[in-house]
Amino acid sequence: MVATPIGNLGDLGERAIATLAAADAVVCEDSRVTGLLLHRLGIDRPLLVYNDHSAPRLRPKLLRRLAEGAALALVSDAGTPTISDPGYRLVRAALDAGIAVRAVPGPCAPIAALSIAGLPTDRFLFAGFLPPRSAARRRELEALAPVRATLVLLETGPRLAALLKDAADILGEREAVVARELTKLHEELRRGRLGELAALHAAEPPPRGEIVVLIGPPEAKAPELGQDAVDAALREAAARLQPGRAARRVAAVTGRPAAELYRRLRELGHGGDESER
Ligand code: SAM
Repeated sequence: MVATPIGNLGDLGERAIATLAAADAVVCEDSRVTGLLLHRLGIDRPLLVYNDHSAPRLRPKLLRRLAEGAALALVSDAGTPTISDPGYRLVRAALDAGIAVRAVPGPCAPIAALSIAGLPTDRFLFAGFLPPRSAARRRELEALAPVRATLVLLETGPRLAALLKDAADILGEREAVVARELTKLHEELRRGRLGELAALHAAEPPPRGEIVVLIGPPEAKAPELGQDAVDAALREAAARLQPGRAARRVAAVTGRPAAELYRRLRELGHGGDESER
């Protein structure tokens, strides 16, 4: 399993180059991308394309070659294979068949982003790309809301603003970071509260390039607030604001998820403006 650069060729290590050069074949996602990489390195090895489409057909053949003693190097288009990329079933099948699998570690966009985000790194949860449609994405965010860890997500430029808005609504005003184009010319790190970043990106054209979004864990003060205090804050906010807005306002202060507070408001007898959610 050979990690390859996520934008800067200088990040390819000596061991990765030696492993690719010595492999009987290089198993890759896209032969154009990996062909170009090998060409730049002056390495000429046969390429086998292993992606979601070809995997079921190719896996038994690869396992047979491995069992016969071939050395296969698996790479993805960029970064560490199997991390939001194909390969996990092949690794599992190889291990089950008693074939040694070795890591040649290196670049990994989510880990690179985490290492420079300035958010807690002692516990993190990598959730990859959330669903593109808002309703499904919000359900996922609701499921992630109680997790006491930094959340590491992947996103595309065109969907970034929508993800940040849904995250602000559901997770409250947590700290967040948008890491873009890491290791490349236009590398950029934006830090702020979820609501600030959502407003910033809603007002700008979608950013170009590749993006990792990191969201800090729920802040400690939230669970310390007793339910009575939260209820009082909700009642007070609901006396002045529409329920959805009131839930978001209390979420910003307490760090509790807005969706949870909205449900609580309905239990308390305030609710019904679905358009606010
Ligand atoms: N396996 C890869 C790795 O270890 O980095 C991740 C594969 S995933 C399909 C590709 C996504 O990772 C991109 O859509 C983007 O969200 C993120 N990504 C890749 N390169 C990046 C970079 N240079 N800067 C920021 N995000 C990046």
